[in-house]
Amino acid sequence: MRTLISGATGFIASHTVEKLLAEGHEVVGTVRDPSDAEKTEFLRKLPGAAERLTLVAANLNDPRAFADYTGDADYVIHAASPYVLTVKDAQRDLVDPAVNGTLSMLRACATSKRIKRVVVTSSVAAITDEPDTSQILDEADWNDRSTLSRNPYYYSKVCAERAAWKFAEDANPGWDLVVINPFTVIGPSKSVSLNTSNQVIADLLNGKYPAIMDLTLGLVDVRDVAEAHVQALASDRAKGRYICAHDLRTVRQIAGLLKSSGFDNARLPSLGLDTRLGSALIHLAAWLQPSGVRTYLHSHLGRVPRFDNSKIREHLGVTFRDLDRSIVETAEDLVRWGHVPER
Ligand code: NAP
Repeated sequence: MRTLISGATGFIASHTVEKLLAEGHEVVGTVRDPSDAEKTEFLRKLPGAAERLTLVAANLNDPRAFADYTGDADYVIHAASPYVLTVKDAQRDLVDPAVNGTLSMLRACATSKRIKRVVVTSSVAAITDEPDTSQILDEADWNDRSTLSRNPYYYSKVCAERAAWKFAEDANPGWDLVVINPFTVIGPSKSVSLNTSNQVIADLLNGKYPAIMDLTLGLVDVRDVAEAHVQALASDRAKGRYICAHDLRTVRQIAGLLKSSGFDNARLPSLGLDTRLGSALIHLAAWLQPSGVRTYLHSHLGRVPRFDNSKIREHLGVTFRDLDRSIVETAEDLVRWGHVPER
């Protein structure tokens, strides 16, 4: 089995590469620059990589980025996409690479008679950008609120996923499309690079949160997300989209857990602004933040997401690991990589 995976250096993709190698796949991973030893060495050191991992160059902004790599693949995972909340130009820096990169991968796949399935990493960001406590989200929901100026990262993900489904419908290729929609992904990193989602835990530990805000995060461990991608490749039952989210934790719960797990000398927030008045104050203060952070706060403060993750558990057999353990392991890993000072 030969599997092509884009953005192999990424937080989620590198765990997925590790699992694919462990399952005996021949893996071709695309990275921006395979000769950049600092960014790629950790992948080449994964068990099985010396024998079965090839790294090749691809940039999402190149329309023919993947054209040379799909010919001998059996399966494809498209994970590469810019994951940043604040950018200078949302169209250029987020939407174009997300959408054009997805389409150039799918176009390249459509020329192959060998590929059986393409799995695209989308996000819960393509499902909602403003959780509504009264609604249980499932795979039928689509984010129709984000724009270039409101939660632009979310907009890039919903545009890319919509483009992927439209392409698959119009081109009617020989493979089927399966999409994984993870919520906020945490967990140990395979590389020193600090992912935007783990940054939340790093910021909490580094005193960047002035107070406990009324934010509730849908969380999932990166190792479970990687497992979902691997299961999605070959499972007979895999079809359509999959919400990949384990459970919810408030910022208060995360800070409390970290404190009781030995991180009490760190600069965890203690001032409680997770009240109606507190949220009103933070809502105002958010106007001083860059637009990506501001619109995120405005659309998430005080809102509790609810979701149904039964499809991924039933179809792909994903069993989510203990979430509190994941949070603590994330914090320990942030210390190990030097993103957070020693306890
Ligand atoms: P990540 O670590 O930032 O990985 C993103 C990957 O995309 C990196 O390999 C990056 O390459 C690559 N990339 C970005 N722009 C590129 C470009 N112009 N050309 C080529 N490659 C480019 O983030 P991640 O969390 O693993 O994200 C992987 C996927 O999961 C993304 O599609 C993201 O939207 C999705 N997702 C993430 C989360 C989460 O909480 N982490 C949740 C839901 C969905 P470089 O290493 O060279 O920058």
